[in-house]
Amino acid sequence: MNYEKLAEILFPHITKTPDDYEKLYPKRELPEGAKVTRLGPSPTGFIHLGNLYGAFVDERLAHQSGGRFFLRIEDTDDKRYVEGAVEVIINSLRFFGINFDEGATMEGDIGGYGDYTQSHRGEIYQCFAKKLVAEGHAYPCFLTEEEIADIHSKQEAEKANPGIYGKWALSRNLTMEEIEANLAAGKSYVIRLKSDGDMSLPEDRIRRFQVEDAIRGTLDMPVNDQDTVLLKATGIPTYHFAHVVDDHLMRTTHVVRGAEWIPSLPIHVELFDKLGWEPPVYCHTAQLMKLDEEGNKRKLSKRKDPELSLDYYRQEGYHPQAVKEYLLTILNSNFEEWRIANPDAPAEDFHFTTEKMSSGGALFDLNKLNDISKDVLVKIPAKDLCAFLIGWAREFRPEILPLLEGHEEYIEKILDLGRDGKKPRKDFICAKQIFEFISYFFDDHFVIEDSIPAEVSDEDAAEILRKHLETYDH
Ligand code: GLU
Repeated sequence: MNYEKLAEILFPHITKTPDDYEKLYPKRELPEGAKVTRLGPSPTGFIHLGNLYGAFVDERLAHQSGGRFFLRIEDTDDKRYVEGAVEVIINSLRFFGINFDEGATMEGDIGGYGDYTQSHRGEIYQCFAKKLVAEGHAYPCFLTEEEIADIHSKQEAEKANPGIYGKWALSRNLTMEEIEANLAAGKSYVIRLKSDGDMSLPEDRIRRFQVEDAIRGTLDMPVNDQDTVLLKATGIPTYHFAHVVDDHLMRTTHVVRGAEWIPSLPIHVELFDKLGWEPPVYCHTAQLMKLDEEGNKRKLSKRKDPELSLDYYRQEGYHPQAVKEYLLTILNSNFEEWRIANPDAPAEDFHFTTEKMSSGGALFDLNKLNDISKDVLVKIPAKDLCAFLIGWAREFRPEILPLLEGHEEYIEKILDLGRDGKKPRKDFICAKQIFEFISYFFDDHFVIEDSIPAEVSDEDAAEILRKHLETYDH
């Protein structure tokens, strides 16, 4: 088979070469040891605690080392795309103090390694798919959905692993004439990796590889044997291909991502290898877990746990500093100790390391967040707390804004009640709860919690209150 000819037939419109892109995106000039990290959220409209958790790791790794941290929008799954989601991502992360050095912004891209939106990078992916085809490492696969379903049932019957690989990869060995005939007939096709792993070998002969994960240590896994889809029929890449091409060309040094990607690591390692590139350092973060009512650990779920969504913290009015402080305690096992020794230092002074991250599952506990929040809020001056409360009310409780705005001096006094002295009150958690706490200062929100018992007459009640006032010492 003349692979070069095949590549030309499949990608006649791709005129740039891989070398052109290597020159366009040269190695970054950064100090020795500087890390380049990225956050690659998908614009699904839902931004969650896991994104923020990962973003803190990225941000710390880059900024502690004098490196770069960028935002890439991973919108290759158009079925999940939600209008306005990019804005939500950028705003939520900014609210929590995550600032990018480059990447996608609402005003367009910043930085020399863009475009930072995957859907705008079609030609780049196709150029590298063309290279793989030209070298015999990828091929067009014309299998229809029905044919794939049929393969799947045969595999079930034979108790073989599911997927397109080895003898099941029916388009692998098509001749040039067959391919040309399929193309002429307008048959739709995807580009698949021609994997050279072979899982049908006896277990002790299956090749394995090792990768040093910065959080988990050595990962030892069997090599990939799946002819994974690289480009879909629309020419849009899959996550696997986009990850490899982008993180190479954007010169990412550390890929921080959720543990759910570990099973596809063999695909990524094979792709880096076939493309002749050095893979980045992988940092697979732990899944966020919680204890359920029965005391069992389980994954935080979008459906069951509102606290998984970052919106939850904004709506409740958690102060970003409290959320950050809390995430650091679950991110690094030695943070709490450091905090006790350095009660007033800014969190940025803490030296964060991937080695101190748990790999087994990070336990998220709302009560603990609340406790930390109390400690954080007690240190925030009433003036700033008042401004924060007003900002929260403007966004989430506009009906109470008139009670706060324009009355700052009064609110600050209320917020400062009992906050000085040796044992300041530490019961403020979040804006919503603070407003409930102080609502008795506002006539429209005054709620009688203990009404006068039925057996007390009005006159007696008045007398009791009079006597109370006589002895009351503010
Ligand atoms: N777009 C992927 C996700 O949202 C990003 C994973 C990665 O960081 O590589 O899960």
